[in-house]
Amino acid sequence: MSYCVNCGVELQKSEPRCPLCGTEVINPNELLEEKPIRPYPSHVEHLDRSVDRRYIASFVSLLLLIPLFTTMLANVLVSRQLTWSYLVLGGELVAFTVFLLPMIARMPKVLYMVIDTLAVCVLLLLIRVLTQSSWDWLLLLGFPITVLSALMCWFFSVMASKKCRIPVLIRFSFALACVGLLVVAIEFFIGLHLQRIAWPTWSLYVLFPCLVLASSLLILNRRAKVKEEIKKRFYF
Ligand SMILES: [Zn+2]
Repeated sequence: MSYCVNCGVELQKSEPRCPLCGTEVINPNELLEEKPIRPYPSHVEHLDRSVDRRYIASFVSLLLLIPLFTTMLANVLVSRQLTWSYLVLGGELVAFTVFLLPMIARMPKVLYMVIDTLAVCVLLLLIRVLTQSSWDWLLLLGFPITVLSALMCWFFSVMASKKCRIPVLIRFSFALACVGLLVVAIEFFIGLHLQRIAWPTWSLYVLFPCLVLASSLLILNRRAKVKEEIKKRFYF
């Protein structure tokens, strides 16, 4: 039995190097003997994960067609025309663009956001056509909130990207302020839809805590800078 001269780990007779620290194993007593055959395969096959994910995503996309065709068939058999099954189509379209498309196709992040937003808008349009409700809720409520939420998601993705050079605390501060403002915007569009635009009320309960937290993060960031400055000047 031999041990690594560097880290002391116990070694198999067949090991040419220490598996822990990589130090070469030289046993003077064994120099003349032939090294035993290593008990591991010499070739290790690595699976390409991206190809694997793309394959699974394509397979799941095909599986999504089963409930779609089933509901469409049931719809036609019962109502003699396609009606509510369009909602399944819209829902699956959103699920596909949000979860499966990023695994299948590679494109800039902005393009994913645009496609996802369009898919949600198509779903909302289908709901509006099927329920035969007024255009008001779609144009004044559905579309604006969808677009605003998409813009916020895009902003978050920019803030979360590794290329972003803004300090982390400032990024969180911006994100919090953004959430607060989105809630105010949602209340504004609800007011617009109900035709009673007024000073924001319930959204302020979200906006103020968000702004307070955001500004405290900014202060904290400044303090960190001051601390760093003191460290540099006083060499500790
Ligand atoms: Zn070692």
